[in-house]
Amino acid sequence: MNRRDFMGTTLAGVAATQLPGLPRLSSTGSEDPLPRARWLRNGLIDAGGTHEPYIFVVRRGGQRLDARQEYEREQSEDLIRRLKDQGVEVFHTHLYKGFGMAAEKPEMEDTRRATEIAHRYGLKVDTYIQWNSMMYETFLAEEPQAKDWIQRDIDGRPILLTYGYQQSFRYRPCFANQEYLDYLKKIVRYAVEEVRTDFIHFDNFDLNPEPDSCHCPACVQGFRSLLKAKYSPEKRRERFGFENVDFLNPPQWNRQNRPEKMEIIFDPAIQEWIDYRCQVMADALRQMSLYAKSLNPEVAIEINPHGITGGNRAWENAIDHARLLKWTEVFWTEEENPPAFLADGRLVSKIRSYKLARAFNNILLTYIASDPVAMAECLAFNQTLGYVGEDPLTPDMRRYLAFYRKNRELFVGTRDVATVAVLRSYPSITYHNARAQLSAILVEQALIQSRVPFDLIFDEHMSDLSKYKVLILPDAECLSAEQLALIRRFVENGGGLVATDQSGLYDEWRRLQVAPGLRGLVDQQPTAQAYEETVEEGSLPSGPAFRKEVGKGRVVYFPGVEFDGALPEPEPYFTISNRFWKRPKNWAEIVEGVRWAAQDDIPVRVDGPEYLVANLVEQPGQQRRLLHLMNYSAKNVPVLEFVEVKCRLPQGRTAREIRVLSPDEEEPRKLDFSTAGAAIAFAVPRIKTYAVAVVSW
Ligand SMILES: [Zn+2]
Repeated sequence: MNRRDFMGTTLAGVAATQLPGLPRLSSTGSEDPLPRARWLRNGLIDAGGTHEPYIFVVRRGGQRLDARQEYEREQSEDLIRRLKDQGVEVFHTHLYKGFGMAAEKPEMEDTRRATEIAHRYGLKVDTYIQWNSMMYETFLAEEPQAKDWIQRDIDGRPILLTYGYQQSFRYRPCFANQEYLDYLKKIVRYAVEEVRTDFIHFDNFDLNPEPDSCHCPACVQGFRSLLKAKYSPEKRRERFGFENVDFLNPPQWNRQNRPEKMEIIFDPAIQEWIDYRCQVMADALRQMSLYAKSLNPEVAIEINPHGITGGNRAWENAIDHARLLKWTEVFWTEEENPPAFLADGRLVSKIRSYKLARAFNNILLTYIASDPVAMAECLAFNQTLGYVGEDPLTPDMRRYLAFYRKNRELFVGTRDVATVAVLRSYPSITYHNARAQLSAILVEQALIQSRVPFDLIFDEHMSDLSKYKVLILPDAECLSAEQLALIRRFVENGGGLVATDQSGLYDEWRRLQVAPGLRGLVDQQPTAQAYEETVEEGSLPSGPAFRKEVGKGRVVYFPGVEFDGALPEPEPYFTISNRFWKRPKNWAEIVEGVRWAAQDDIPVRVDGPEYLVANLVEQPGQQRRLLHLMNYSAKNVPVLEFVEVKCRLPQGRTAREIRVLSPDEEEPRKLDFSTAGAAIAFAVPRIKTYAVAVVSW
């Protein structure tokens, strides 16, 4: 297929799926467009090995003089056998780093041999493939035409990975360039057919923040073509004031107006450029994933885009998880949010990223091997372990691994039990991260630290809210007419709505509504601003909550989610990093409001301090609910005693038995319980770092 044909097919897909009226459908319009590797249903225990080939270690510099021996050791039979003996099931190793296939062929052949060994030991193999590096020094010698595949900035200079200028040999390829994607397919084919990999890890899955975005001819043309495919001439007039977009360019920046200083994104061309960058990444991934699956549907697909970090991921990095995670089964986050309850009252966690993974039926990989709290968090929210580190595994990791393997049936095929949904609205967060992301983070923080089970949902999930009793809109400013109608119907039919701040005051292009979108449901919203030349630094709104009953449902409105203390100074791109991850000042009111809106339909209530966290899942086939409990302050408070729980069972069920298990205890134990209406009550005698209570009926 030539380039023109490819852009034609891609954009036809876009036109069908990316209309501004949300929700988005998956790019093929079907429910689960990616064939899934069945073996992953049993969970994942992955460890290395290193993913760095020797050629890279040498080119990077600073290596030990025995780096070659170390490289060989990392793929040796000895190491693979030891991983197997420690309980590892998937061997992580290098395959392709970006130097070009000719340059890397000898080491790719090493991986083929190591894979044979791993398979002989009954291990599966996870191979590292660089998504986003073109080491031009060797690559251009092999593929001279690749000079046209490189991402170029507005001045035509190559765009680099951001490891500092000591790795300025790593150019980023352009994902709108079909020739590069066809090259990458050769690597994928080699991985699946020659190496016989079981699992592909695509690393560095993102783009650089502005002003470092690709202005190559394929991108400039692609941007204009996308607008034409996405919008009718009338719609383009509505969007830009004119129809002809043939001269529209990607945005340009200057010293006076730095992209990292832009608080609200009004400009339709910038909004559309963000969408274009996200779509290019999603389309390239879709193409690559479907290609790999066409060769072997049992090959698992994983990318490394990081999770929910508080950053404006779409604007900064062209990451819209909702578009990407349909084409993956696993993803990595290397975010620096090690779980802990800190002295200043912050509770840092990766719970948001785990919930994101669950929302799209993915497994999350992250670093857990150095801290039992991280392992506990992973078991509780990921329902498997994922990446357990490198040989030799840490003693704590071995203890958790043994616990998981022994009790694995408690983690397989579970589904999250929650009646509360928190909407992470793409346009609200993308166009106003400083406020919409902060409100989302703070509301999530209140729920996490009060142990109210919740799901994260994304725009597309709004079309089916039947699982939920409460929908929370944390400053979801930008809602489409379709979403507003869905919300209204949800409430009238008995749903609860908790809205905050400026929810619903703008449409999906962030144009100010004349009549507030939620009028009738919420009556007390202050007036919002339309275009502002300079965004005013205002204090965050606050004030008492308003409650209202509408139809069969209930609505609570909070004028503000109040940050507890002085708000930290804004960060570049207005990232809400974990400096902000604190329970809001009005957390108790928010949680009370959620309970009221839910008409008390919250499946579990756990008493305990703000560093005790819970997650509830169920296995209906096995007739049980499982309550995972974690102590985020385990370093300072080694034991929590007599944690009281009230847990509901599905309608008409009667509890038969409660067992509590923990990697911190020698033996499982049975608990006494009492029945009170539809709920049962029991107390977990002690929680060190982690315990799981299994309620069977
Ligand atoms: Zn480009």
